[in-house]
Amino acid sequence: MRILIVEDSTTVSKILTHLIMQELGYSVDVAPDMSSALALLEQHKYFVVVADLNLPDASNGDIVRLVLSSYKTPCIVLTSNLDAHQRRDILKLGIVDYIPKDNRYSYQYVVKLIDRLYRNQQVKVLVADDSVVSRKFVRMLLEHHLFQVLEANDGEEALAVLEREPDIQLLITDYNMPKIDGVELILRVREKYNREDIAIIGLSNDNDESLSAKFIKNGANDFLQKPFVHEEFHCRVLNTLDSLDMMRNLWTKANRDYLTKAYTRRYFFTEHNGKESEVGTLSVALIDLDFFKKINDTHGHDVGDQVLVEFAQRLEHAFGANFTVARFGGEEFVVAFKGLDSTKTSTLMNKFREQCQANPISTTAGDLPVSFSCGVATKANESLDHALHRADELLYQAKAAGRNQVMSQ
Ligand code: GH3
Ligand code: MG
Ligand code: MG
Repeated sequence: MRILIVEDSTTVSKILTHLIMQELGYSVDVAPDMSSALALLEQHKYFVVVADLNLPDASNGDIVRLVLSSYKTPCIVLTSNLDAHQRRDILKLGIVDYIPKDNRYSYQYVVKLIDRLYRNQQVKVLVADDSVVSRKFVRMLLEHHLFQVLEANDGEEALAVLEREPDIQLLITDYNMPKIDGVELILRVREKYNREDIAIIGLSNDNDESLSAKFIKNGANDFLQKPFVHEEFHCRVLNTLDSLDMMRNLWTKANRDYLTKAYTRRYFFTEHNGKESEVGTLSVALIDLDFFKKINDTHGHDVGDQVLVEFAQRLEHAFGANFTVARFGGEEFVVAFKGLDSTKTSTLMNKFREQCQANPISTTAGDLPVSFSCGVATKANESLDHALHRADELLYQAKAAGRNQVMSQ
């Protein structure tokens, strides 16, 4: 990834170069004027150009116009103070954003913006609006920030697109639409998608003052009144996506084990501790590595960690697509086999056990043979805790009977 900075102040370009290289690890070229910028643009493909509006051999943003029209490269503009007119003109060019060079946070903001642009390429945004003009305008603003944009003509179509593309991260929806309006759409989306799955921004040109609150009360993260200025739009989109990232990080911290990335005990219980009547057949396999302490004692804790990570990956690979794999603590794992009885579960676990035994785990201390013992119990008319307790007793019996085996009722 390569960034071009066009800036005649060496102080500014040095700080920026340092931050971009340090924090993002990108290569940076610096051009002190427009003619050297042109020479570099001919030689390399840049991901983003960060350009000063006024250069020794160009003023009034000539460089920006050129970068956008001839090289189709996103452009972040550095400026001194702008008046309202200048600001409007520069935003109209289709830049990513403009950043006043007046304080030290400005540089940090440039870095944040470049990083965001990089990640935006993978972010799908759905725009639901029955007005083609308004939809195209929002699409254009989003494309300046490199998002993947999808469109829907009304609420019904939006729901169909979401069904088809479950990895959409942001929904931007108008209020007045035929069939299903914006608020109804949000209600339906929130029935299925949590706040860590998708963020929503409502749009409206209605003069109904209560609408913003209505959007937010029904599950939107934010709201924009049309017509809005580019700048506000981008700020709100970025803020909304930042909070989505934060929600996702928190969710991951609570629900994924830090070392092995398997689900946590907490997630396991929230997923499978449903009301008795809701749950069909459910079998649990409690798994404990054999003589794991020996691996730690012989090769060190780091190697022990490598074994745990690889073992968790094997479990995930074998069962993760259809069942829940969680780390219960230490070298103990659990898999919830929804829909399977203990006979089928034992067969699967035995097959997995044989595969594990046939493939030692490769670590920095060499290939280490690893085996495990396992207790399988099917949840009867009892709590999940109780079924796990029975699985634990069976696991204990498997250990006592010589380890490396699966015990079930
Ligand atoms: P058994 O066959 O009876 O299960 O013997 P074992 O050695 O596997 O069982 P024991 O319960 O005696 O030891 C488990 C060890 O796992 C002890 C603990 O230090 C280690 N352990 C727990 N969590 C971690 C971890 O996150 N990383 C590493 N490397 N070791 C861990
Ligand atoms: Mg053990
Ligand atoms: Mg143990």
